[in-house]
Amino acid sequence: MKILSCNDSILKLEWSDGHSSRYHAIWLRDNCRCEICGDPAIGRRNLRLTSLDLDVRLVRAEFCEPGSSNSIAVTWSDGHQGLFDSAWLRGNAYHSEHREKRAYQPELWSDGFRKDPVSMDFNAVMGQDASLLDLLHSLKKRGLCFVEGAPAQPGTLELFASRIGFIQENNFGRVQDLVADRTQRSIANDVDALKPHTDEPYRASPPGILMFHCIETDETGDGASIFLDGFEAAESLRNVDPGGFETLVSHNQAFRRHFEDDVDLIAEFPVISTDDLAIYAALELTTGWLHQPVSNMT
Ligand SMILES: [Zn+2]
Repeated sequence: MKILSCNDSILKLEWSDGHSSRYHAIWLRDNCRCEICGDPAIGRRNLRLTSLDLDVRLVRAEFCEPGSSNSIAVTWSDGHQGLFDSAWLRGNAYHSEHREKRAYQPELWSDGFRKDPVSMDFNAVMGQDASLLDLLHSLKKRGLCFVEGAPAQPGTLELFASRIGFIQENNFGRVQDLVADRTQRSIANDVDALKPHTDEPYRASPPGILMFHCIETDETGDGASIFLDGFEAAESLRNVDPGGFETLVSHNQAFRRHFEDDVDLIAEFPVISTDDLAIYAALELTTGWLHQPVSNMT
């Protein structure tokens, strides 16, 4: 990595792979990693935005140790000095190209995946970190993963969920039992199939991962689940009806579920949430907070 240039307002670096990144003087000042400005190890910031000089300029940027590009010492016009780790600068480069590279990219389901979705072994995931990592990667990429060989016993799901993270308790408790019961009138006991839906959008913080464990099938032997790829549905809509897609992205919808026991849950979200890249790009072009001409911001 080398320092390509450093003027009043921009520090420009070139990485060993040929990519270059630019950092604004005020962005660097705001993100200073020194002990006075905060303690990155515990996530504490002491620097207040209101104490920043909006016209702060870069005075100097140089490698801390001769022959090593591991860290860069920066001096600003307010007299402050800070050190930046090269890997941190690379990981936080904020121009569109870098953000796009870091952005989450789901894989739309292929016919192959539909016919033969990823399936993991319960004991392997419980006992081996490498298998757990495979499961998490698979979930992140396609949003669905089957796990075979789980003991058909109550408590198994809770154990399995705890292998991944904290269980999010809600008005159903830690685990909700869905028991087919033709005498009851509730979704948890219903024997009729539900249409495809997104679960629990009426919560301010909808579940990150939903897990189902089939312990016993109904006496009919039925009860298979149907899963759809929400990203694929959204992409299809974007192609066939861009205006409709835009409406579902840009308008909030109220989701509500009122239970008979007085629990009343309401949340407002757009039906489709897109990532932030487009929004940031628009902000860059329409605000002047960095005091830079638009042509220098892209
Ligand atoms: Zn500092």
